[in-house]
Amino acid sequence: MPTEFRNEPFTDFNKEENAQAMRAALEKVKSELGREYPLVIGGERINTDAKLDSINPANRTQVVGRFQKATKELANRAVESAYETFQTWRNTGAAERAEFLFKSAAILRERKHELSAWMIHEVAKTWAEADGDTAEAIDFLEFYGREMLRYAEGQPLVKLEGEDNRMDYVPLGVVAVIPPWNFPLAIMAGMTAAAFVTGNTVVLKPSSDAPTIAYKFFEVLEEAGLPAGVVNFMTGSGAEVGDVVVDHPKTRFIAFTGSKEIGLRINERAAKVHEGQIWIKRVVAEMGGKDAIIVADDANLDDAATGVVQAAFGFQGQKCSACSRAIIDASVYDEMLEKIAERTEKIKTGDPTDGATNMSAVINEKAFKTINGYIEKGKSEGGRVLAGGGSDGEQGFFIEPTVIADVKPGATIEQEEIFGPVLAIIKADDYDDALKIANDTQYGLTGAVYSADEAKLERARREFHVGNLYLNRKCTGALVGVHPFGGFNMSGTDSKAGGRDYLLLFMQAKVSAEKVGATSKLAEKRAAI
Ligand code: NAD
Repeated sequence: MPTEFRNEPFTDFNKEENAQAMRAALEKVKSELGREYPLVIGGERINTDAKLDSINPANRTQVVGRFQKATKELANRAVESAYETFQTWRNTGAAERAEFLFKSAAILRERKHELSAWMIHEVAKTWAEADGDTAEAIDFLEFYGREMLRYAEGQPLVKLEGEDNRMDYVPLGVVAVIPPWNFPLAIMAGMTAAAFVTGNTVVLKPSSDAPTIAYKFFEVLEEAGLPAGVVNFMTGSGAEVGDVVVDHPKTRFIAFTGSKEIGLRINERAAKVHEGQIWIKRVVAEMGGKDAIIVADDANLDDAATGVVQAAFGFQGQKCSACSRAIIDASVYDEMLEKIAERTEKIKTGDPTDGATNMSAVINEKAFKTINGYIEKGKSEGGRVLAGGGSDGEQGFFIEPTVIADVKPGATIEQEEIFGPVLAIIKADDYDDALKIANDTQYGLTGAVYSADEAKLERARREFHVGNLYLNRKCTGALVGVHPFGGFNMSGTDSKAGGRDYLLLFMQAKVSAEKVGATSKLAEKRAAI
């Protein structure tokens, strides 16, 4: 039996030996940049004519890895291969499957800084953010491995005399795993591991912005001895091969995390039954957010300002849980603006390979343009730039941490997910008004309230409609097992990744009711003949 689950500790880079280990990992990764990686379908490594390059957002001429662009035919082949492997993989025992997760976690732990260094290069995470991502990936593997063992134990049923009844959780089939780039190791590994530990097989289509880190994880699975074809690695255009995998009649389940637009598209396409399909496809879609932190009149303003700034600008505001709205009580509004601006100005933006950097480039040129567009929109709709506002796309896609005050409820930057380092500040008349503004969104992912009044916090528990609510702390940084994660409304299906309900989504329950004594009677009869 494995030991009790514990979250993987974060690395303290103030300790020289840890900083040195990270620098060595960065050097190693630097010497491996620009390599080419294949598709892997049923264990076969395949190269295609068309390629896609993953580039370093902080150093846009640097190619991190070169990848294959799968064709529609290869995407079909990936599903067929996963379907074939499912016929054997489904019969492996839960303990055996869980063991692959524990082994993979051990390998990740050993190569922690190397995996973080890949993220630092591929998505411009700072040291601390990359380290947190790797730790979360380890957590998912350790947690879901234990969860599978728990589900494999007998499930309690009401007793009926004369019958021996059982309920077992069995796998679904082929799972299309479609992760985002922003937690390129943790979310991708968590979704993939959940899918195969429950006995399913996987077509993994990583984001084109973060394929290298996905491939590195795939290599870890191979090293752990996972049989060929259980996870099939397929890079390519999301729009082209994504649709093929989603539409395929042998795809049983789509596990998606990403934007609302793509999530809704997948949900709609998956509802259509294709020729030869004999099930209703299941879709789990975890999507965007427009997360708010409310600062009440009685809050500790220093704590609140620190929480807002950390949650707004950690990983350049590119977390689904990022604080993109600070809703502040009018009586403390001006004081809070000062504190927020002061903290924002201290953020050191730059090269993510430098351990002193707090914030780096946004993911790609498209995001760079969209985010800058939102800053302009914020200004044109009457917002006042309190900090930042500038950008520089020359070397990498750098945007300053930007605070826009006096944003009106209902304004574009108060309503739409920006997914970048832009914080909108909104003045609320009072706590009632703050809650109303916070809930006036199509999303419902994370939220936080800073207040010294227990009654206000209790009211937020009842009325602030988000999947993950934080009280007197920032709204980012969910821990596996501690804060199961998922949102309401257009933030998705609330699958609560990293929680006890999550693996259920990847399985179906099968009940067998056996009449007691029938087997032994038959045996007796046979013996008598
Ligand atoms: P995205 O929707 O652009 O892409 C997500 C994935 O979908 C990628 O792998 C992409 O290649 C793929 N894809 C694109 N078109 C497809 C299609 N037609 N069919 C199938 N797959 C397709 O999102 P992103 O930019 O990678 O990630 C950012 C978004 O993810 C933000 O909105 C963020 O809030 C959200 N997110 C949500 C959570 C959560 O838990 N709710 C966590 C992380 C990120």
